[in-house]
Amino acid sequence: MSESAAMAGGAALVTGSVQGIGLGVARSLAGAGMRIAVHGLATPEQGWAVADELMALGAPDACFHDADLRDPAAIRAMMAQLQDWGPIDVLVNNAGIQKTAPLAEIDPGTWDAILAVNLSAAFHTMQLALPGMAERGYGRVVNIASVHGIVASQDKAPYCASKHGLVGLSKVAALEYAAAGSGAAGGVTVNCICPGWTDTDIIAPQIAARGQALGTGRNEAVASLLSEKQPSLRMSDPAEIGELVLWLCSRAAHNVTGVSIPVDGGWTAQ
Ligand code: NAD
Repeated sequence: MSESAAMAGGAALVTGSVQGIGLGVARSLAGAGMRIAVHGLATPEQGWAVADELMALGAPDACFHDADLRDPAAIRAMMAQLQDWGPIDVLVNNAGIQKTAPLAEIDPGTWDAILAVNLSAAFHTMQLALPGMAERGYGRVVNIASVHGIVASQDKAPYCASKHGLVGLSKVAALEYAAAGSGAAGGVTVNCICPGWTDTDIIAPQIAARGQALGTGRNEAVASLLSEKQPSLRMSDPAEIGELVLWLCSRAAHNVTGVSIPVDGGWTAQ
């Protein structure tokens, strides 16, 4: 089987793909000829505009879903609809939220929301998608965790807890499905990508806060944040995460499972 044959014409769900890293991933998978289920908290106009863009990039088909991932019933409804449209061969659990605050000041609602979107939603989607992948002999789950699934930073208790949990959940699923399918078919793998600073909206509040603290503009604030943690002193671009997802989905990656790959300019090497 050629590298792209496992993917072309197959269906991918990328949560949180109306913007940011998820959109970068969706563009890469569309370019490989996959049908894409676009997802995120966006208006129908915004969501279907992304779907149109992905079809122009090479996706044979695309649809849009706006399930709120804090609600397990909404996740189940979306997955049921996608069973008819799909079935899902590639599942990218990418949607995520974060709020920075000292542990003692985090309200329980913030804790619950971050754990629900960043961790529990991936449990629900994986539970519904993995059995079908195993039956068909090919499937890929790529969970977008974070450097904060590997190491901690102050003021990020719920975020770090959710991302460490996502790394653990992915390892368990990788073991349970490691023997599914065959090398020729591509097998079923479950992995995490662990980005460091990546240029998207989710980090805008931290950049703004640093700029305010330093009395500088955005560029100086970004440079200051990078200098603390990310030795390359460069942010990643969402398209670069997309390229890595594409490789993980290739047949050649059939024996890469249960790993967490940092894309962090050396952050977690320190
Ligand atoms: P982003 O804010 O641009 O995108 C987040 C996406 O999640 C959006 O599409 C949004 O609609 C979706 N989302 C949020 N809450 C939701 C909800 N309740 N229901 C459904 N969808 C919801 O941020 P991003 O940087 O593209 O984040 C993508 C992933 O990458 C997240 O899991 C994030 O934790 C992770 N990450 C980002 C960075 C970074 O520096 N940008 C670093 C490490 C990890």
